[in-house]
Amino acid sequence: MTDSVNPCGFCKTTKSKILYPVSDIFGHNFNINKCESCNAFFLSPIPTQQQLEMAYDSSYYGSNEKKFSFPVIEQVLDYFRSGRARKLAKYLKEDDAILDIGCGNGRFLMYLNKIGNYKLFGTELPGNSAERTSKIKEINLKIGMLEHSDFEPKTFSAITLFHVFEHLTEPKAILEIISKIIKPEGVVIMSFPNIDSLQARWFKGKWLHLDPPRHLFFFAPNDFEKLLNSYGFELVSKKFMSFEQNPYGMVQSLLNKMITKREVLFERLKGNNQYAKEYSKLNILLQKLFFIATIPVFMITDIFVSLAGKGATVEFVFRKRK
Ligand SMILES: [Zn+2]
Repeated sequence: MTDSVNPCGFCKTTKSKILYPVSDIFGHNFNINKCESCNAFFLSPIPTQQQLEMAYDSSYYGSNEKKFSFPVIEQVLDYFRSGRARKLAKYLKEDDAILDIGCGNGRFLMYLNKIGNYKLFGTELPGNSAERTSKIKEINLKIGMLEHSDFEPKTFSAITLFHVFEHLTEPKAILEIISKIIKPEGVVIMSFPNIDSLQARWFKGKWLHLDPPRHLFFFAPNDFEKLLNSYGFELVSKKFMSFEQNPYGMVQSLLNKMITKREVLFERLKGNNQYAKEYSKLNILLQKLFFIATIPVFMITDIFVSLAGKGATVEFVFRKRK
């Protein structure tokens, strides 16, 4: 079936194929379309402002300091954040300027700050996270979308977008800005869900990492590489394995297949106890037990799936050409 009405979330042209339906946790219905012009997979129709506001309210980031209500989950996330900081630091030298687009609570930048002396910049949309980050004196925070006038050309030695690109309403404009404000030979690290993964192909509309309506578009890794080449970047590395993202993607997508509502356990772990109230305590407990029992298995399978380039998420390192 073709969709000639709703524009592509990336290139804005209007010729696309409808692949499969997907609904968000509030019951809003969308399709995942594939653009015939730029090959982007995108959420169609583009969610309304009101739908996005519902999805991004405080339950997304956690009503208090943390996104998750269980301290151990935040500790695990901190472990991964510090790993990302160490990975980036390999490409940096003293006094380099770093921009983290969609820096959230700023903890990744603060880990970088522990490793070395860098000039730290971040952007985050208005909200609780931005407010918290604005109080950290080491981080130069811009609250709002990155714009052309924010930074001089060739300012940054590194720019990072960790699971941010797929949220952007103007991704093309952001890529243009990035390619201008990055220094020659500067690195860009970015990660996002892999729409060409086994999980995406198996679970379709039930796949956790579609995360409707927050994730607006996706690229198959090979197409994304070509796209970034056209912006003057060359690929340094890509990795598909992620114990942070992929095994839980398996668990929650399987649960989404088995029970009617999507993301019930995920929402509960985030402390959203208002969601799916009709599920009994026993049902939720069984879901937690399923999680604990299967996660080690899916960590092992992730190693093999990712070696085949089909892991549920992808993390790229690109370098700007001289
Ligand atoms: Zn397109």
